[in-house]
Amino acid sequence: MVKRVAIIGAGVSGLTSIKCCLDEGLEPSCFERSDDIGGLWRFTEDVEDGRPSLYKSMVSNTCKEMSAFTDFPYPEDFPVFVSNSQVLEYLRMYAKHFGLLKHIQFKTTVISVRKCPDFSATGQWAIVTESNGKQESSVFDAVMVCIGYLSDPSLPLESFPGIETFQGEYFHSRYYKHPDVFEGKRVLVIGMGNSGVDIAVEASRVAKKVMISTGRGAWVISRVFDNGYPWDMVFLTRFMNVIRNSLPGPITTWLVAHRTSQWFDHANYGLIPKDRDVIREPVLNDDLPGCIITGKITIKPSLKEIKENSVIFQNSPTEEPVDIIVFATGYKFSFPFLEESVVKVEKKQASLYKYIFPPHLEKPTLAVIGLIKPFGAVMPVVEIQARWVTRVFKGLCQLPPVTISPNILKTDCLVYIDELASLIGTKPNVLALLLKDPVLAMKIFFGPCTAYQYRLTGPGKWNGARHAILTQWDRTVKPTRTRVVEEPPNFCFNLLKLISLFALFAAIFLGFK
Ligand code: NAP
Repeated sequence: MVKRVAIIGAGVSGLTSIKCCLDEGLEPSCFERSDDIGGLWRFTEDVEDGRPSLYKSMVSNTCKEMSAFTDFPYPEDFPVFVSNSQVLEYLRMYAKHFGLLKHIQFKTTVISVRKCPDFSATGQWAIVTESNGKQESSVFDAVMVCIGYLSDPSLPLESFPGIETFQGEYFHSRYYKHPDVFEGKRVLVIGMGNSGVDIAVEASRVAKKVMISTGRGAWVISRVFDNGYPWDMVFLTRFMNVIRNSLPGPITTWLVAHRTSQWFDHANYGLIPKDRDVIREPVLNDDLPGCIITGKITIKPSLKEIKENSVIFQNSPTEEPVDIIVFATGYKFSFPFLEESVVKVEKKQASLYKYIFPPHLEKPTLAVIGLIKPFGAVMPVVEIQARWVTRVFKGLCQLPPVTISPNILKTDCLVYIDELASLIGTKPNVLALLLKDPVLAMKIFFGPCTAYQYRLTGPGKWNGARHAILTQWDRTVKPTRTRVVEEPPNFCFNLLKLISLFALFAAIFLGFK
């Protein structure tokens, strides 16, 4: 019987894993190598070994309502898209509210996680940790690996001929903190993920010239979507999901392209993706088109060659002078404390069942939480993973027949969350709800799929869930509606209403004649 659970890492995944263990009556012990919680979301001026690193200005790509944990909405006065320090503040509130801190051992590094000799009978793990130069070994009934995938930079210098001759400066995006390093320089950013575009936009405010090199291009969308609402609250609804998933692939692709290009034509801006049928994470940036149209950023194809003080792009003989190259080429991941026979990582992929469980263990007592790149917020996804995992540990949920998901999750997170929620028994039944509580049912089906939905029924039901759903738009507009002006009576509109009412009565009268 699983009781003691080791949790590795005290970032977003680690914190919610501690909470889920406590909810299920398990005994979590969390090991965190740094001296504080927050993982990725805790900005430091220095880049710390083995810890994610972010730049000072980083703002979340998903809005606060979509990013909240299932039973803990963000404060209503927080901005709609929160800065990294506000995400950290939220995590601190979450940790305090649910009493998580006392389960964390800071400055403690996990050195190894090995199966106990009697693993096939007990499912137990021997864990060696190091703190203040002292090693300690303990036995746990289960392990939750919550280390993320953004600590180990992917810097494929071998793909860039001539880099060894380059006389300027180059670094991976992980080492970028503030834009002053670009003052007056000619900057080339390689890679068109969210880091690359954020850094290029910041650089464009102080640099002499900024170029982004991208082979594949990307769909770029704004955080500010239809009528100024957050993109994810408009886009990630059950209704939209039904439409997206029931249409043939090419039509969905066309719709996405059409919808995205309503903001600006991606072909005219040099951004149009090459393989449009492949689902890839979009780039969220409100400023990029403005920078391109004002000539502050130029989009370029892949690099052909790097020279001493310049670069040459594919399909162009011109040499472009460059002083700084930023490799925004993403991350790779590994589990240095695990044996390869437990989780094998190959070509930036790990074979895991439902992106969580190593498939060939005799006992499902080790889980990886947060190895995901969802098309949407991370918090609700890692939380549902942790809720399901803790119930599997306890034997309350069984693992269905194993098929492997050989990738970092790059998909519509709604389908995935619903799948895990069904296994736990917390997926809302919209049809049944339609009879019992039609207002709530309509909000759940047509409104944003906020995570509170997964606390309405089943294990871990939260009495505040209904209210949180009904008030989610209030919390969204509160921080921006800071100047409210009384609407003057609209004479034309009132006249129109009067005429309509008259026409209605006339129609009823004539109908009964
Ligand atoms: P990323 O999303 O993995 O993007 C890396 C980019 O580098 C991709 O465009 C990739 O192109 C390119 N690349 C990789 N190897 C290359 C090579 N050899 N030559 C040329 N290009 C190459 O990494 P990221 O932008 O650092 O983002 C990491 C995660 O953090 C993402 O999930 C992102 O959304 C998140 N993030 C969030 C925020 C925010 O919330 N504000 C900000 C930054 C990052 P291919 O795809 O063609 O390989």
